[in-house]
Amino acid sequence: MNAKVTGMDPITTLRSEVLFERAEQVIPGGVNSPVRAFRAVGGTPRFIARAGGSRLWDVDGNELLDYVGSWGPMILGHNHPHVQEAIGVALEEGLSYGAPTEREIVLAEKVLQAYPGCDQVRFVSSGTEATMSALRLARGFTGRDLIVKFRGNYHGHADSLLVQAGSGLLTSGGGTAQSAPSSAGVPQTFAALTLVADYNDPEGLEALFATRGYEIAAVIFEPVVGNAGVLIPTAEFLAALHNLTKQYGALLIADEVMTGFRLAPGGAVELLGLQPGLVCWGKIIGGGLPVGAYGGRAGIMQQVAPLGPVYQAGTLSGNPVAMAAGIATLELLAQDPPYERLERYGRALQEGLENTFHRSGIPISINRVGSMITVFFHAGPVSTYADAVQSNTGVFKQFFHGLLLHGVYWPPSQFEAAFFSAAHGGEELEYTLEAVEKVLQNSMHEKTG
Ligand SMILES: *Cc1c(COP(=O)(O)O)cnc(C)c1O
Repeated sequence: MNAKVTGMDPITTLRSEVLFERAEQVIPGGVNSPVRAFRAVGGTPRFIARAGGSRLWDVDGNELLDYVGSWGPMILGHNHPHVQEAIGVALEEGLSYGAPTEREIVLAEKVLQAYPGCDQVRFVSSGTEATMSALRLARGFTGRDLIVKFRGNYHGHADSLLVQAGSGLLTSGGGTAQSAPSSAGVPQTFAALTLVADYNDPEGLEALFATRGYEIAAVIFEPVVGNAGVLIPTAEFLAALHNLTKQYGALLIADEVMTGFRLAPGGAVELLGLQPGLVCWGKIIGGGLPVGAYGGRAGIMQQVAPLGPVYQAGTLSGNPVAMAAGIATLELLAQDPPYERLERYGRALQEGLENTFHRSGIPISINRVGSMITVFFHAGPVSTYADAVQSNTGVFKQFFHGLLLHGVYWPPSQFEAAFFSAAHGGEELEYTLEAVEKVLQNSMHEKTG
């Protein structure tokens, strides 16, 4: 990649356009996960041909500096040779047996070593399965039915988690929360078992527990939110989560599917000193292949089948090829921890973006923890979901498409975290900031001309 951004080189996206039309014939919306369809920003999604390090190449041969990182897993950059090699070895030995293997133990040991508060872990095949299974376990363990989630937190697409706050919550301050499905196909009676509270609102959570606390099996939360854009928890909010769940005998579930092994070796649990009853993982622990997991103290985990009455299973759970990718990834993260480097890159990126936007006069507010960053097009601080949704998504669209034309692949939604990897260095930083500068100059030019 040329480190100098010289302007909008004419690019073609013809092959992506042709493939998208074909895809739309046979796959709903042309994609297998909605955000990939660019609906929030318009335009045609780029079809990717290959990836390496910090870069993607689309089917028209355009090189893209990647800030999506497959939505979280690629903390080492794409196609790291050690991960490739480990997968190659596993491939030679067979793809799946439906019987236990040593690799499952090795990956379990690595996960538990990073999370000393957990004794046991069960592998599944996605983050969705991890949170869904953790909630079932929490209900089985406590004998209670209700769960609490927070507005703007995403935990995968299990029925009980596709729930939003109804009007009752907004008018009653949480006292008599009415929840509503946020997806068609989720029965109202399921949604009613999920109470929705506001992130970073300890008083609201307290009010909720005061009315229904002894019916609540678990509170599930993103310890640093990525799925509303980055939101950072306040100390008061974290204290309320711990105190209320403890006081009322509910389990606190840290959904570390995005943050686990990204913010620190022990994820947000280590970074923020959390003491959750259960932890969910995904993304990085599969190194780019489909792996999820949930874990906790032995006394809770031993409620899971075959030891206990909480059923959970999976044909491809603990798949040997996926385990090999996860083991190799966690090995590399332990041998050569990238976290300080990621923090330095993040700080320089944030400062560079803040300076560039400041000069342009376009108001933004940046939230960042380590290698997760969101540029909100919002003038004030963004600490709640309500703040985040005030962002100017029209300006975000221009920013996104401007960057894409300059070869920078930013997440195609205002309400997502951008990720960078150990493969992002000085050249990438310089390229990104120059691209942003160009985009802002061009849009300023359009405004005045
Ligand atoms: C991605 C994500 C999930 C869902 O994981 P999938 O593998 O997409 O099912 C759950 N929770 C959080 C916090 C996530 O970021």
